[in-house]
Amino acid sequence: MNIFSSEVIHSENQEVKHPILDEAKVFLTIKREDLIHKQVSGNKFRKLKYNLAEAKKCGFTKILTFGGAYSNHIAATAAAGKIVGLETIGVIRGEELAVDLQKTLSQNDTLSFASDSGMQLEFVTRSTYRDKNSEDFLSRLKEQFGSFYLLPEGGTNELAVKGCEEIISVSDHDYDVICCAVGTGGTISGIINSTSQHQTVLGFPALKGDFLSVEIQKFTDKTNWELIKDYHFEGYAKVNRELIEFINTFKKEQHIPLDPVYTGKMIFGLFDMIQKGFFTKNTRILAIHTGGLQGVYGMNTRLMKNNLPLLTI
Ligand SMILES: *Cc1c(COP(=O)(O)O)cnc(C)c1O
Repeated sequence: MNIFSSEVIHSENQEVKHPILDEAKVFLTIKREDLIHKQVSGNKFRKLKYNLAEAKKCGFTKILTFGGAYSNHIAATAAAGKIVGLETIGVIRGEELAVDLQKTLSQNDTLSFASDSGMQLEFVTRSTYRDKNSEDFLSRLKEQFGSFYLLPEGGTNELAVKGCEEIISVSDHDYDVICCAVGTGGTISGIINSTSQHQTVLGFPALKGDFLSVEIQKFTDKTNWELIKDYHFEGYAKVNRELIEFINTFKKEQHIPLDPVYTGKMIFGLFDMIQKGFFTKNTRILAIHTGGLQGVYGMNTRLMKNNLPLLTI
């Protein structure tokens, strides 16, 4: 028995009460995928489920994947690998982090968690990292680590999308609009695939760039979706005081913690759109909480250095 073997996973839908919603006469519910599992939270659980099963079925004993120093995907893969009995290797962007590894681990909760979960960390330069999908680099990794099941950066592939299709259940077809944060596009693709045609899926990219639509189209033929590109806050993992204060207030009022990289930006954007009259009266909105709360510790370290208020989670 392991965490991925149970068919029914309960993530509850939680209704949000707020004067801004009353004013616009729209309804907002948050699907608490962040509560699925303490260490393999939210969409990373969904994305790993079929990949780890496939790795085991094919007889692999190791999985290798890529990520930045604060990556939710790295933390989740390390924890999941430990639980299901697969060795994990994390190729991490930034060779400078390896210079004094003890210091790096003492200052970085994501990497120390991954390392404590048994993940072997391999630090590479930014330019090597950029070429991570090259044949040359992959064959070097094979020489170094032996054979492994390869999970792409962010964990997005066909099997990840299949797992994310399970986020939406038939009873969620009552909602008119489904919102979700977007990184590589795997999660929203799965969500789109399991919506019904009368529903609209709105994706909130956490980063700048126009490549995402093409990525999403690789995994879905449906067209009932749109990307809302106004709420990335100047880039991936970039935040400002207004966002931090919004997340802290939301936590205090709704008792729902949001992460600063993905779900905080989505809910901020959604409230802004609601206030500006984007949705017609009686629209029922379901926003997916994709987890990611492990990243709060790393963000607070950065906020402290920059004299910004901290996240109170
Ligand atoms: C990774 C992540 C996302 C992005 O998922 P993609 O499938 O890469 O688009 C969204 N929210 C959270 C909390 C995440 O950790």
